[in-house]
Amino acid sequence: MEKYIKIILDSYYGYFNYLVNEMFYPTWKNYFWWLLGLSVGVWLLEIFFPWRKKQAIFRKDFWLDGFYMFFNYFLFSLIAYNAISNVAVEAFNDFLGIFGIENMVALHVETWPRWMQFLLLFLLADFIQWNVHRLLHRVPALWEFHKVHHSVEEMGFAAHLRFHWMETIIYKTAQYIPLAMIGFGLEDFFIVHIFATAIGHLNHANLRITYGPLKYILNNPMMHLWHHVKELPKDRKYGVNYGITLSLWDYLFKTDYIPHEGRDEALGFDGMEEFPKTFWTQITYPFVKSKNVDGVQAHQAGTLKKGTLKIK
Ligand SMILES: [Zn+2]
Ligand SMILES: [Zn+2]
Repeated sequence: MEKYIKIILDSYYGYFNYLVNEMFYPTWKNYFWWLLGLSVGVWLLEIFFPWRKKQAIFRKDFWLDGFYMFFNYFLFSLIAYNAISNVAVEAFNDFLGIFGIENMVALHVETWPRWMQFLLLFLLADFIQWNVHRLLHRVPALWEFHKVHHSVEEMGFAAHLRFHWMETIIYKTAQYIPLAMIGFGLEDFFIVHIFATAIGHLNHANLRITYGPLKYILNNPMMHLWHHVKELPKDRKYGVNYGITLSLWDYLFKTDYIPHEGRDEALGFDGMEEFPKTFWTQITYPFVKSKNVDGVQAHQAGTLKKGTLKIK
């Protein structure tokens, strides 16, 4: 137990120091300044070459999304994720230790050339993300969390990181075991992370970019816009274009859908008029909502009981 408390404290302290360091001592390997630089860069492209010309520079929910961006990229890690995941990894290793397993590395890739390790990690991580994203749309309880991302009505770069913090937990958990089996995590590859952030920003940007023939490999603004469209084709009621960084999986598994450019398509989901509008109400909504459902059921059960009593 003491060991776990120490891990939690070290995580908080370590992450806090890391964040302060990131902000005040810029280096090339610095997430804080890269996120800021990429955001300003893509935003400038949106200002100078907008796809929807009528969309305001400070579009609807610009600041809300900006806050989500900072919260999800930095604060959530500071507050909880770093500590939770360090404890979980330690507990998991302790659990493996019971069976005399010291690590999970099943495939020894450290002898491979660096670029091949890179490619394997990138493909594996992205394919897992594609599958998780499909589940977020298919499993009703997960969809309640994912709705936050789909409540975007006007697309712009910052919409990329508008999502419920629970998604971070779901995505990272799903990636942990397979990546541990090849002996490294996404954190080991700074450049992969920055590349994914850049493509993600562009996917949500107000830009008419498709990357030409590369569109069959890379996700892009036009393709991802259709992922956010409110009215889905009848035979694809769960969704289309689930790609995160790569569009490849959607083309391989036939979940791709770009009927036309779709520049002015309405975005969102059915019933989003009632969806909460502020950061706090959005991140508490899935929990409050399920509580309400239980409450209603309990209430109904109570009424039933009373009814039975009366008959007696
Ligand atoms: Zn989605
Ligand atoms: Zn999106």
